[in-house]
Amino acid sequence: MSVRVRYAPSPTGLQHIGGVRSALFNYFYARSEGGTFVLRIEDTDQTRFDSDSLEDLYDTFEWLGIQWDEGPKVGGAYGPYVQSERIQLYRDHARKLLDSGHAYECFCTPERLEQVRKGSGGEAGYDRPCRNLTREEIERLRASGIIPVVRLKIPLEGSTRLHDLLLGDIDRKNEDINPDPVLLKSDGYPTYHLANVVDDHLMEITDVLRAQEWIPSGPLHVQLYQAFGWEAPRFCHLPMVMGSDGQKLSKRHGSTSVRDFREQGYLPEAIINYVSLLGWSYDDSREFFTKGELEKMFSLDRLNKAPAVFDYKKLEWFNGQYIRLKSESELTELLLPILERDGLVPARPTAVALEKLAALIPLVRERLHVLNDISEMSRFVFSEIGDYGAAELIPKRLDRDRTIAALRAGRELLSDFETRSNEETEELFRAKAEEMGMKLGDLLMPLRVAVTGTRVSPPLFGSLRLLGAQTALERVDRAIALLQNEVK
Ligand code: GLU
Repeated sequence: MSVRVRYAPSPTGLQHIGGVRSALFNYFYARSEGGTFVLRIEDTDQTRFDSDSLEDLYDTFEWLGIQWDEGPKVGGAYGPYVQSERIQLYRDHARKLLDSGHAYECFCTPERLEQVRKGSGGEAGYDRPCRNLTREEIERLRASGIIPVVRLKIPLEGSTRLHDLLLGDIDRKNEDINPDPVLLKSDGYPTYHLANVVDDHLMEITDVLRAQEWIPSGPLHVQLYQAFGWEAPRFCHLPMVMGSDGQKLSKRHGSTSVRDFREQGYLPEAIINYVSLLGWSYDDSREFFTKGELEKMFSLDRLNKAPAVFDYKKLEWFNGQYIRLKSESELTELLLPILERDGLVPARPTAVALEKLAALIPLVRERLHVLNDISEMSRFVFSEIGDYGAAELIPKRLDRDRTIAALRAGRELLSDFETRSNEETEELFRAKAEEMGMKLGDLLMPLRVAVTGTRVSPPLFGSLRLLGAQTALERVDRAIALLQNEVK
C-alpha cells in the first residue's frame, strides 16, 4: 500500500519550528516514497482555537513552498480535512464503542472530578465510578438532566505495546495509562484522542510521524485502535528539538515561529535546509540540501534517536550561504521591501535608488546574515548618517590629533579616488600609513566612521565609490570639524 502521511496541527498559535519540522519530515517522506501528504486541521478544542493561527499556517506553507496533496483548500477523497466539519463522524464512532462495550457514559460532575483529583493529591486520575453502572442507574442519571461524557475502557490489567519505528517497542502497563480517558465531551465534541485516531484510520494514514511529546498518548491510541478492531498505522516519534541548554526549544531561547524568522529576513531555503537536519542526516558530512533534493533523498532510516539542538548561529550561517546564491535581481526583489519598510527607499523607488541598490548588492552580498541586515549596512548610502560621538572616530592606538591627521591625509588621497582602481587607492593608503607610522587599519577606521557613521560597513572603497566623492569628502570634513571642536 502506498504511503499516506499527515501533518495534523491544532491551530492554537503560530507555526513553531518543531511543528514545521514534523510537517517537513512527513512531506519529504511522502515525496521520497511516491506517497501522499495530507494536511488535517485538528480544531476540535474550541476554547483554544485561534483563526489567525490558521492563516499563519497557510501563509507559512505557501512561503516555504510546501504543498499538500489532500487537505483544506485542495480537497481530496477523504475530506473534509478540518475536524470541526467532521463532528458527526466522531459521535457515530463513540456510539460504536458504546454499543460494543468498549466505552461507557460517565455522569461525574466536574466538581466531583475535582474532589477526586484533590483527594489524591492530584496524582491519580479518574476513579471510574461510572464504569459499571447498571442500565437503570444510567436511565436515572440521564433523566436527571446530566449530559454524560464518553470514556474509553482501558483494561485494568496487562500492558499495551506501542511499536515505534525509531525507538522500538514501548511497553506501558495498562494501569499506568490515563484511566479511562474521555473520548467525547459533554458538549458533543471529541477529544484529540478520538478525533485523531478516527481520522488516521478513515484517511488511511499508513505512518504517523510526529514529535516525541506525543509518545505518552501512543499506548492509549493503540488501545483505541484495538477497541475499534482496526489495524494501527506505523508510528515514528521524531526526536525532540532542544535549545542549547538542553531544555525543550521555547521562546526563552529566541524566536521559535517561522513567522518571526521570516520577518527577520530568513530565506525559506535556509529554514527548510536547516530544519531538515534537526534529527535527520543524509550521511555524516553533507549539509546542503535543496527542497528538491530532500524530496528524493529523505528516508526514515537516517533519523536520529538523540534530541536535536537548535543552533541559531548555524541557521544564520545557512541563511548567509543561501543569500550568496541569489542573483542580483532576486536580491533586489528581496531587499527592496525591507529598505522601503525602514524608510530608506521610497515606496516607488526612484531610478537613482535602484541604481544605488544595484551597486550596493555586490558589496554586501557576502556580509548579510539575514536580509534585514541590509538597512544597517546601507543607511549611509540612502540617507544622511546619524550623529556619532567624537570618541567613535578615534582608534584605540591614536589620540585626537593623530586622528585628525589621519582624516586629513585620507581626505587628500580621496580627492581624485574615482579615477583610480580600488587596489591602487589601497596601495596609496598603505604607503601613507607607513609614512605616518601608523597601521593601515588606524588610518582607515576614522574615515569609515566619518563616511558611514559606523565602524562596521561594507568594504570602504566600494562604499566611497557608491557615495560619490563629493558627499564622502563633505562627511570627512564634518568629522574633522567635530574633532577640532572637541575640548582638549
Ligand atoms: N493536533 C496534534 C498537534 O497539535 C497532532 C498530534 C499528532 O500528530 O498526532 O500536534
